[in-house]
Formats: sequence, C-alpha cells, structure tokens
Amino acid sequence: MKIFTAENIRKTDDYTIRNEPISSVQLMERAALSCVDWISVNCKQHTKFVVFCGNGNNGGDGFAIARMLYLKGFDVDVFINKDKVSFSEDALINYKRLKDISGISVKDFSEIEKYNFEKAVIIDALFGTGLSRNLQGIYKDLIENLSLKKNPKISIDIPSGMFADQLNEKNDVIFKADYTLTFQFWKKTFLHPETGKFAGKAFVLDIKLSYEFIDKTESDDFVIDDDLILKIFKPRADFTHKGTYGKSIIVGGSYGKIGAAVLAIKSALKTGSGLTFVLAPNCGYEILQTSAPEAMFIEGGVKNIDTIDEQENAVYGIGPGLGTEKETEKTLLKFLENHKSPLILDADALNMISKNEDHLKLIPKKSIITPHPKEFERLFGKTENSFKRLKVAKTKAKQFGFYIVLKDHHTQVVNPEGKVFYNITGNSGLAKGGSGDILTGIITSLLAQKYSSEDAAILGVWLHGKAADLAAEKHSKEAMQPTDVIDEIGNVFLDL
Ligand code: ADP
Ligand code: ADP
Ligand code: MG
Repeated sequence: MKIFTAENIRKTDDYTIRNEPISSVQLMERAALSCVDWISVNCKQHTKFVVFCGNGNNGGDGFAIARMLYLKGFDVDVFINKDKVSFSEDALINYKRLKDISGISVKDFSEIEKYNFEKAVIIDALFGTGLSRNLQGIYKDLIENLSLKKNPKISIDIPSGMFADQLNEKNDVIFKADYTLTFQFWKKTFLHPETGKFAGKAFVLDIKLSYEFIDKTESDDFVIDDDLILKIFKPRADFTHKGTYGKSIIVGGSYGKIGAAVLAIKSALKTGSGLTFVLAPNCGYEILQTSAPEAMFIEGGVKNIDTIDEQENAVYGIGPGLGTEKETEKTLLKFLENHKSPLILDADALNMISKNEDHLKLIPKKSIITPHPKEFERLFGKTENSFKRLKVAKTKAKQFGFYIVLKDHHTQVVNPEGKVFYNITGNSGLAKGGSGDILTGIITSLLAQKYSSEDAAILGVWLHGKAADLAAEKHSKEAMQPTDVIDEIGNVFLDL
C-alpha cells in the first residue's frame, strides 16, 4: 500500500471529487459513515461520545460523525470554538445539519472545565492532514488538557497537531489518541517512533478514493500489506527437491553466544531452507547439533569460511553472536573482498564493518544489512531523529547498492533506489535479546530460496513480525520468548 504525502492526499481527494464524480460534502459523508461503522462495531460498550470539532474539514467530519452517532441513539455532545466561527464550506454545511437536530448540544471549548466527562469517549476532529502550522493558544491548551484525560480517545484521520508526512519539530503538542481512524492511507508519521506513539492503534478505512489516481501517482514509501505479501510469497511446488530450496549458511556464535546461531539456524529451517549449515566455533558443536539436528555443523568457526565458499546456491547470513575478535574481523573482510553474491550481514558483522567507512564498499551489491538503531548509528553516524535517520539510510543504500533493513517498532526496508517499505507486523514482545537473530535466519533462508533481495527482506520482516504477533496472543508480550516466535512460523505459513 502506497503512503502519500499530505499534498498527494489532497490531490487524491480532488481527483475523486472531479472524476467519480462526487461532491466534496458527499465524500465527507462517506468518510464520516466509515468512522461511524467502525465505532458501532468496536465501541459497543460505550454510549456517550463527546466530539471536538475544528473549523476546517476535519471539523466537518466531526459534525457529520456526531450527527450520525446521535441518530443511531448514542448520547452526543459537540465542542467548538464559539469565539471564532469561520467554518470551511463543507464544515459549515455539516454544522448546519447538526444544528437542525435538537438534542445535540454544541458547547464552547471554555466549557470543558465544568463538563462531566464520565464514561465519555472523546473524539478528536480538530485538525486533519491539512494542518501546516504549529498549534498555539486555545487549541494548544485544549489538546494538552484533553490528552491528560483517562477517557478512551479516538482521532479522526490523524491526531490533531500531527503532520501527515514529516516531523513537526518545533511543536510537540499532539493529541494523544488510543485509536486513529485514518482515511485510505497509512500516514508516514504513524510509523515513526517520535510521532507514531500519539496515533495509538491506527485503522485504515477504505473510503473509496480513486484507485486509478492512487495507482498512477508515484510514491517512494509503502506499507507492507497482505496484498504485497501474497504477490511475493511462492508456495512450495510438488516436483522439487531440497536442492530447489537453496543452501543457507549461518556464520555466527561464539563462546557464551552460541544461542544466537541456534536461533538463526532454527529460523532458517522453519522458513523452508533446503539445506542449512552453521559455521561456528567447536565449543558450539554439541548444543548446535542437539538443538537443530537438521542443520550441518561446519567446524572451526569463521576462520573456515573460505572452505565452503564454492558451494553453489549458498547464501551466507553472517553476524549473530559472532564476536568481534581481531582475527574474526580480518577473516570477514578478506571473505567480503572475494565474495560477489548477495549475503546478509547483521550484529557483530556490522559492528566490525562499522570501524572503517571503506569496509562498506566490500559488501556485495544487493546484499541485505539488518542493523538495529544503535548498529545503524555505528555504521553511518548519529542522527537527530528517525526521519533524518531514514534519509541517511536512503542515501547509503543508493551509494553502496545494498538493502538496509532498519529494525525498529515499524522496521523499514530501504532499497537501493531509495524506496522504503514499512513493516506493520510485530510487537514489543520482540524487544528481547535474540529476536534479531531470528530475522537474520529467516532472511538468509528466503534469499537462499531465490527470492530477490527485496522480496526476501520484505517477506522476512513481515513473517518475523507476524509470528511474533501469534506468539504474543498465546503467551503475552511479556512472557513470549524468541523461541516461541520460531515456533509460530509454521502457523503463519498455514494462514498464508
Ligand atoms: P546488541 O547488538 O546485542 O543488540 P548493542 O550494544 O549493539 O547490543 O546495542 C544495544 C544498544 O542498542 C542498547 O543500548 C539498546 O538499548 C540500543 N537499541 C537497540 N534497539 C534500539 C531501538 N529500537 N531504539 C534505540 N536504541 C536501541
Ligand atoms: P538481537 O540482536 O538481540 O537478536 P536486535 O535488536 O538485533 O536483537 O533485533 C530485535 C528485533 O526485534 C528487530 O527485528 C526489531 O524490529 C524487533 N523489535 C524490537 N523491539 C520491537 C518493538 N517494540 N516492536 C516491534 N518489533 C520490535
Ligand atoms: Mg541483533
């Protein structure tokens, strides 16, 4: 699914209005109805709604939502700024429609102090994606005040104060929603940590904006959705054999960190690797052979990496638990100098590479590197925020011709053309040592199975997150372990 800038969202609205054709106020009605449908299904236990409306089109959505909820039998109150009533054309139409119904009281923002919020759901329809300046004065105070309330809070389209496509650096006053009902597109800001926390759980409502226009409008940013995954995923064919599914070679593990290699090979096995090898120091022999008897152990650790380089169809996943000894570093760099096919680099492999910018040039084209934010910083330097970090990632992916899997709550796959694919599976139950080692095993296995680097990275992060979501349902985010995530991989394939 494409992510659009605020400007392209506006153009999509305009195009839909001109070409469907539909009047703008009817489109507003359709958007409001989609919110009310969602609320009717998901807020069954609530009977009272208090809707805060701005003067623009987001406020117009709010008036329409208030009217529809009221006509469905809910208690509804509406708050506006009575000092400065200069509504947009469509907001005014919906304000009048609301006023025609007796039973909904419209109050001024100044009345919230004495208002009884008990059991009310707060709906924020103050500002939408058209917001272009910082919030000040009365709106700033109102949003700060409402954000403190313990009531359930729903934002319409976007939490007020947030921009759709960039960090609002000068102002951190944003409505803090539990849920955001957003129209047609994911907003980029929902996917970055600095701003995403204000959106709560986001639901994208299809309000039937012109698919034709969306198709033909370029974007560099995408959300990895089910449609994309179904396009990428290749089910196993009957007339095949283990050779069809490639060779995954995990290079990792060191004394005390053999577990990282165990997690990676188990994940490679679980995602369909034809033959799986692990190159680890001899101290790992017994634990590796016992915990994953399907994998073949290559003794001697990284210093023997060259002895298997001639293997056909072999894809290397290097780094989990590897350690950063001087000898290891030398061997790795020499190996990279001579190795030309794409591979996966993670963890300590990245830590060793980050010691010198020249090392980055050794990484084969179309390889995939999987840094977490700290490893990213070691590789490419400190950045002020995740938006700037992503910009750096795009530049570096282009410069070096590799894919960067920038791991975060919403992991970003950055391709060498600078396109970004945001992952929306996964949860904070993954915030535990070992989770990243699993991802390395998964992506290595997919690349070995001849998925392109881009598809392996995208499908890999999606599978990893999806398995984590199943593990969280079964065990809780707190208790789930990386091994539980591996155990759920099979169920993800069964659902595909
Ligand atoms: P490891 O490679 O075992 O994860 P590192 O020393 O490379 O250990 O990195 C761990 C550091 O990176 C920790 O301080 C951790 O808090 C930080 N880190 C990891 N993920 C994130 C993240 N998503 N945001 C900010 N810091 C992170
Ligand atoms: P390790 O090196 O210990 O195995 P990493 O930090 O390399 O762990 O990787 C952690 C993995 O868990 C990444 O894929 C990251 O996206 C995921 N993860 C961590 N915290 C969260 C979170 N809060 N929400 C979603 N995914 C997370
Ligand atoms: Mg890691």
